[in-house]
Amino acid sequence: MNPFAGIVGQDRATGALLRALETGRLSPSLIFHGPPGVGKLTAALALCRALLCRSEAGPACGACPSCLRIDERALRHPDVRVAFPEKLSDFEKGAQATEGALGVDLQERQEEVIVNPAWTLLIDRIRQGISFLQRHPSESPRSVWIVDQAHRLPAEAGNALLKTLEEPPPYAVLLLITTSYHALLPTLRSRARAIPFQLVARADIAAYLQNRKGVQGEEAALRAGLSGGRIGAAIGLDLAAYRERREQILRVLDTLVRRGDPGIAVARAEEIARGGEAVDGDLEILLSLLRDVMIGGAVPPGRAPFIHVDLAERLESLSRLLAARGPDAVRDLEGALDIIRKKGNRQLAIEHALIGLVPPPAPALPRGGA
Ligand SMILES: [Zn+2]
Repeated sequence: MNPFAGIVGQDRATGALLRALETGRLSPSLIFHGPPGVGKLTAALALCRALLCRSEAGPACGACPSCLRIDERALRHPDVRVAFPEKLSDFEKGAQATEGALGVDLQERQEEVIVNPAWTLLIDRIRQGISFLQRHPSESPRSVWIVDQAHRLPAEAGNALLKTLEEPPPYAVLLLITTSYHALLPTLRSRARAIPFQLVARADIAAYLQNRKGVQGEEAALRAGLSGGRIGAAIGLDLAAYRERREQILRVLDTLVRRGDPGIAVARAEEIARGGEAVDGDLEILLSLLRDVMIGGAVPPGRAPFIHVDLAERLESLSRLLAARGPDAVRDLEGALDIIRKKGNRQLAIEHALIGLVPPPAPALPRGGA
């Protein structure tokens, strides 16, 4: 049984791991790197199951007492540990100090860490992990220590890891996970085998959602299209909230393209600009709608590979109205997003982009008579 069968769209990474397992040449020091939400942590746990499985049936049977306790939603295996960045005061209070034994929800921990970019991997947590690897595994032939968000290792903590990375005990595997390979300390990069993960193709994500998660076809296509190649984003998206917001943005787009009134563009720009943190997201939604509108203009009706598959008819009707102005409108909007991200004048930027959607005034009719 292929221990990585559940990992979508990462054939290069999982193929390399599988070959290493089969030939008994797995490097004891590994770095999984690549964009967020593409399955690095999931693959790390699959590797743990493969290394620690106690069944005769082959690596990662998924059913033995060892495999069952290596679960992303409840890690309970004594020979697997995961270190995350955390807040110093939490660590000092002793929160989650016995992780590995309590059934830690790794996905939840990871989400918490992502929204708290100031948390770091604490030196004392790293020291705990090093002594965990130096002890013999309690019931398995191997032990695995995973360090997530390894680019958040301060130099002191990173340096403490060097010796273990270079000469891990014969039974130990140390696995660093990072979204930012080049932000890792160079001394860590040079001592471990790098395994790159990549963004996943839209069709692969849609097929996964449909076949493995039982998501209905149209929803699977929409989630895959909005995920930006990240399976985690495709699963985690709050679709109901997204649809509601999208409907409001689509109405703005619709009004501008149909009504041809620059005054409306200015008013809507003001509304969107007031959205605070949500502005970026709103413009992203508008941009992806607009890209679909352009695609709709380029192919026969009913044939467009829309991201917003559930809006096909409305988007096609907008395609006919926007016609030749589409490419400029997309460029303007991308420009506006860029300005906003660089903290420029957001209202002016949005205004400029929205006015670009308003059709030019029709040429005045020649006056008859006199
Ligand atoms: Zn097993």
